[in-house]
Amino acid sequence: MIHSTLQQHPPKGDTIKNTTMENSSAMRKWLDDFKLSHPLVIAGPCSAETEDQVMKIAQELKDSDVSIFRAGIWKPRTRPGGFEGVGAIGLKWLQKAKAETGLLMAVEVANATHVKLALEHDIDVLWIGARTTVNPFAVQEIADALEGTDKIVLVKNPVNPDLALWIGGVERLYNANIKKLGVIHRGFSTYEKTKYRNIPEWQIAIELQSRFPDLPLICDPSHITGNRNMIQQVSQQALDLNYDGLIIETHIDPDNAWSDAAQQVTPKTLKQIFKNLKVRKETDEADDYNVKMTRLRFNIDEHDDKIIEILSKRMAVADEIGALKKEKNVAVLQSQRWTEILDKMITQGAGKGLSEDFIKHIFKAIHQESIIHQERIINETRS
Ligand code: PEP
Ligand code: MN
Repeated sequence: MIHSTLQQHPPKGDTIKNTTMENSSAMRKWLDDFKLSHPLVIAGPCSAETEDQVMKIAQELKDSDVSIFRAGIWKPRTRPGGFEGVGAIGLKWLQKAKAETGLLMAVEVANATHVKLALEHDIDVLWIGARTTVNPFAVQEIADALEGTDKIVLVKNPVNPDLALWIGGVERLYNANIKKLGVIHRGFSTYEKTKYRNIPEWQIAIELQSRFPDLPLICDPSHITGNRNMIQQVSQQALDLNYDGLIIETHIDPDNAWSDAAQQVTPKTLKQIFKNLKVRKETDEADDYNVKMTRLRFNIDEHDDKIIEILSKRMAVADEIGALKKEKNVAVLQSQRWTEILDKMITQGAGKGLSEDFIKHIFKAIHQESIIHQERIINETRS
């Protein structure tokens, strides 16, 4: 008899793990257990380089707002030939740093071997890097290797702005019964050069935050900016958006760091950054606050309505242009005209305090939508 394998169901006894992750106040228990009166801070070098470097940095961070010491042991490099990390020997240095300072230790893991070694060396916090979050096979391998442990696991956003992929990574760990989870926003890759190394997409993180309000959210201003002079400003932005913590690369001799030299700060600078940061309250009970806020939000809603109205009028004009181009058999994209519009809008926006980045973003989206409208008209077949 021939059996068809196509129709087969999983063998009996095999369970498919597909629990959807729901928000729950228990998600932030591990964070609350730190009992901090300030945001959680994770700090330490991009990479562990030598025992002496690890010990010196950990000593300097000991009596500060830092709760967790970070150090990369295995480094994912864009191209071969860069410093690929010291490997397992570095875990011994971290164990020593933990014994001497009491700081919890965090490393990046990218496969089951890393997890096994980190567990053997009593590492407390594991993070999954941006280049690993993009790969569900790798995340699943890590989740399987961690099943049954009670480690804190932080999932960095994938390099590409894909919220489902980011959440999917967290869900794989959740399904492996990892209870102490958190996410790290480290910005996203872009082909275009911007002032950031990895552009922050605050909106994506806000969406994640609104779906899982109790899932601890940490900002990584070091990898977002790639530049130590911007760490303060981006850290403040994160706190203004209610982030629960920061992960900041810190080195005793940043300029001579073996990786990510430009973005690392000294322990002294880090402490100054903490002093300058303003921690905002989530809300304010006072009546005058509520009255003023309601009025301002009403105002914002009115402007948003007008924006939609104007956009729809602009698209109606695009439709007319599409009809004319169709009649005369002219191509939809007129790149010179588009460059002129963009340049004009950037100049006009600058005069009104609107950044070039913002104008580019918004007009690219508008232009894209206009093209879609025109194409629809041009390709319409007459019935
Ligand atoms: C890191 O934290 O050192 C790192 C490699 O980060 P990312 O995965 O965000 O690039
Ligand atoms: Mn780094």
